[in-house]
Amino acid sequence: MVGTAVPEITPREALRRVEGAGAILVDVREEHEREAGMAAGARGIARDELERDPGSHFHDRDAALLLICQSGGRSMLAAEALQRQGYRNVATVRGGTLLWAAEGLPMARPDPGAPPRDEDFHQRYSRHLLLPEIGMRGQKRLEASRVLMLGAGGLGSPAAFYLAAAGVGSLRIVDDDVVERSNLQRQILHVDADIGLRKVDSAEARLSALNPRMEIEAVAERATSDNIDRLMDGVDVVVDGADNFPVRYLLNDACVHHGVPLVYGAVHRFEGQVSVFDAGRHRGQAPCYRCLFPEPPPPEAAPNCSEAGVLGVLPGVVGMLQATEVLKLLLHVGEPLRGRLLHFDALGMRFRETRLTPDPACPVDRALFFLYLLCPRQFAVGQPSGGQ
Ligand SMILES: [Zn+2]
Repeated sequence: MVGTAVPEITPREALRRVEGAGAILVDVREEHEREAGMAAGARGIARDELERDPGSHFHDRDAALLLICQSGGRSMLAAEALQRQGYRNVATVRGGTLLWAAEGLPMARPDPGAPPRDEDFHQRYSRHLLLPEIGMRGQKRLEASRVLMLGAGGLGSPAAFYLAAAGVGSLRIVDDDVVERSNLQRQILHVDADIGLRKVDSAEARLSALNPRMEIEAVAERATSDNIDRLMDGVDVVVDGADNFPVRYLLNDACVHHGVPLVYGAVHRFEGQVSVFDAGRHRGQAPCYRCLFPEPPPPEAAPNCSEAGVLGVLPGVVGMLQATEVLKLLLHVGEPLRGRLLHFDALGMRFRETRLTPDPACPVDRALFFLYLLCPRQFAVGQPSGGQ
């Protein structure tokens, strides 16, 4: 059949054949074009899709197919492509949908009353939508969720990038630091031109550029017992990217109090740790950070990155493990790192896992008593932050 010219028919003739002779009218325009209205009775199959696999739509190569597009050009090309694939009874509608409408022939909405399809959403998250464990339901769940990110430094950078890309709807980033040149070796949210700017501002600019759908709340404050409840408000998961122990303990206690899971990460030189502390929702069953380390170490026993050094890529690995746990928690898939402490040794390139059990003598309740009842404003928070 190669070389046979595709017959062109008028819109009126096409309508007659559809109504009287059982011909199939196919609108080959893109979905967003068809939303404005299509010839009544037409089936919408975008040209690419039709040409790629016509057999999945039309088994019978003798079926009477009438292709229509906007003005007749694309439907002709599509009809020729179908001919080459062995379809023997294909015609195209001259003048397309424009002429069809101009002649006053009946038009229809593809799905009357349906809201227009969100193309940005479908394209951006198409690889998630393909996964049965996520799909439309999971992606909508991500879009409806809010994550608190404490710190826009070494751990917060990779975690925030991937959470933004993955479609977490709202990210509240808390950091009172400004970008320094020594941060750029690992804090990939920030670039050279950001030096001197507030980290939350450079983070917001970079993340919005990656995913404009996302809502970013940039909070240039240090987390303290005074503002922690406001920072926790409406949050589904907390990411610990803190670089000092007082904030880490404050976060732990607040997460227990509010029943929000805490995705913990820490780095030191060539080693990192990750865990999920979910004691607030599983009291007595899941450990909290204080079950592991009941009290903060003295400052001299716990040097931070600015004192001890850190391999630049290490917070990248740990921060992405944290982002993985956040997505699992939000999606309710997989087995969270709850009651398990994952150690990563970059020099040996080894992961190992330690079981964590809740400590019946955990001091968290005493800590909460101090934090929320006794003397909330005297809870000591405020070690200098060196920028993880
Ligand atoms: Zn505990």
